[in-house]
Amino acid sequence: MKTLELLNYALDDWYRASAGLAEIQSAVTGETVATTGSRGLDFKAMLDHARNVGGPALRAMTFHQRAWMLKDLANAVMARKEELYELNYQTGATRTDGWIDIEGGAGTLFSFSSKGRRELPDGRILPDGDMEMLSKGGSFVGQHVYTSLQGVAVHINAFNFPVWGMLEKLGPTLLAGVPAIVKPASATAYLAEAAFRIMIESGVLPKGALQLIMGSTGDLLDHLTLQDVVSFTGSAATAMKLQSHPVIARESVRFIAERDSLNASILGPDAGPGTPEFDLFVKEVAREMTVKAGQKCTAIRRAMAPAEHLDALEDALRQRLAKVKVGDPREEGVHMGALASRDQLASVREAVAELSRHARIVAGDPDRSPVAGNGAFMEPILLRSDDPWGAPAIHDVEPFGPVSTIMPYKDLDDAIALANRGMGSLALSLFTFDPAVAQKFVLGSGAYHGRMMILDRTSAKESTGHGSPLPVLVHGGPGRAGGGEEMGGIRGVTHYMQRTALQGAPEMLSKVIGQWLPGAAKPEGEAHPFRKRIAELEVGYTLKTGSRTVSLEDIEHFAHFTGDTFYAHMDEEAAKANPIFDGRVAHGYLILSFAAGLFVDPAPGPVLANYGLENLRFLEPLYPGDTMRVELSVKSTKLRNEEMGEVRWAVFVYNQKDQVVASYDLLTMNQP
Ligand code: NDP
Repeated sequence: MKTLELLNYALDDWYRASAGLAEIQSAVTGETVATTGSRGLDFKAMLDHARNVGGPALRAMTFHQRAWMLKDLANAVMARKEELYELNYQTGATRTDGWIDIEGGAGTLFSFSSKGRRELPDGRILPDGDMEMLSKGGSFVGQHVYTSLQGVAVHINAFNFPVWGMLEKLGPTLLAGVPAIVKPASATAYLAEAAFRIMIESGVLPKGALQLIMGSTGDLLDHLTLQDVVSFTGSAATAMKLQSHPVIARESVRFIAERDSLNASILGPDAGPGTPEFDLFVKEVAREMTVKAGQKCTAIRRAMAPAEHLDALEDALRQRLAKVKVGDPREEGVHMGALASRDQLASVREAVAELSRHARIVAGDPDRSPVAGNGAFMEPILLRSDDPWGAPAIHDVEPFGPVSTIMPYKDLDDAIALANRGMGSLALSLFTFDPAVAQKFVLGSGAYHGRMMILDRTSAKESTGHGSPLPVLVHGGPGRAGGGEEMGGIRGVTHYMQRTALQGAPEMLSKVIGQWLPGAAKPEGEAHPFRKRIAELEVGYTLKTGSRTVSLEDIEHFAHFTGDTFYAHMDEEAAKANPIFDGRVAHGYLILSFAAGLFVDPAPGPVLANYGLENLRFLEPLYPGDTMRVELSVKSTKLRNEEMGEVRWAVFVYNQKDQVVASYDLLTMNQP
């Protein structure tokens, strides 16, 4: 393979470093695969370009336009994935490892694209929670909103997942409308650069939205401001160094950190040998040791079992690990490839040497090279400590490779304390079939771990596994894990936005956020709202219906027709005895049905289907002889695709005293 010359991407152009190129070696052969360097880059100009060109362009787009852009980026990566798999082998990763990185990365973009279109408005302001009433008369209210930060996201990524690590940060950032400067880790930068290049060549990004640094970040951090975010994944030492940068401290620059994590996995006290949970535990510990050669921030480093089962666990793990074939990741039948570099190999060997002063190696030899040549290959190493409280290193030293330590616990409290001794982790897993054990663990340990997977015989088959961060769940953990949080669906988008509490009149705030709020104007018009397409529906546009009196016959007819003969509708005495009612009342579902009868316009038209109700509350009973009427207002609209979109209607059902009997959001699918 010819040596690749990795280029920076600054100010919408590829940039070759002026000098000081570093060489990157293949993890498999030790040969130089690429040169990299960033000397000569004008880092301040890159930040300015992102702020002055990329940010405004992204912020001019709606959430939905940005979400479609993410889908296009993901499709571009998928269309050229084989180019990435080819480079992936050089990082020491197998095809399965590469699948997590490459297709998992694209999948994360797809997920954010889909969530963005379903859960975010088709606008540029994101309301957060419900309106808060701040005055008796309702003329002064509060509403939290998010708006895009006006700076740059600086992403400093780890070497282990060069594609996924870049895309899991870019998805939420771009959806938030914030431009990014990406700095991949050097060891695997050639794979990150290739994926980055695919996105640039797809042509779907506005100018200034993405830039790339291939090497040192120079004086970049010196020019950060309060509108910028640094999202860092890597070692605790680097995180601390960056986080204490004077500009970051002075300007309160947001700093998201994903760092070391000594993740624990626990075999429940109920899950001895012979149970399905025991077998699942063995499988998962071995898998976490070997996937990506254990170079995962979420991998299981500490595996805990009841003292009486530790020998059985050791035997089962040794047997399983003995079958792991280490070798060239391209070769058929190879389970585990190489570490990312010779440096990484040296650092893992060093960590194992330190661990082995406190624990004994029971499987594998850290100094034996399972593959001849200059590759960074290593056998999986299992250590055992019988005195976990007397062996601080097993809870403090993170061997970032195929290494785990097994240890006993005395009882559940001891297991919880040992799990928490990791001082904060990204992921914990518990193998138990006993909900009482699981609940005790969650209460005792939840505050120390970012994600907890409770696995048993019923969920194992479909489980995504201990080590997989998912776009819809938060990734991050307290303490040693960095105290950061990424992804978690739309939560991750808000990390790149500012939350502001807006106060004002409902009409004013409604116009600002593009969503009708209670108390805002309800303009009426000639046309029935069901006759209007989404593009013609103004927020707040309201239909006030005629009225209908509900009789006892209606209630009885409905009861017999539907089979709902609940006593509150059918038995005057029993209904009266109920503390809520003064006598027989109309069914809630009858009220909803009559409401629809009042507001529906029946002829075919822009409304395609009713697809749900949300936030339904019955607030006042409706008695026989009462009269009801409905107000139906457009609360918000959003397109889903070219054929349809969602209209959210605020519906209020009133009685003859103008009391609200029921309120809800009605959702319909409409033509655009
Ligand atoms: P480093 O902290 O050395 O590197 C992480 C990133 O920071 C790389 O992109 C690196 O670039 C960059 N970097 C290093 N120094 C600076 C600096 N002074 N200014 C700006 N950027 C800098 O970590 P490792 O590469 O050693 O990664 C391994 C460790 O990361 C593991 O031991 C593990 O603990 C942790 N990790 C955590 C993960 C998580 O999600 N929590 C995931 C993966 C790893 P360069 O490569 O060019 O030096």
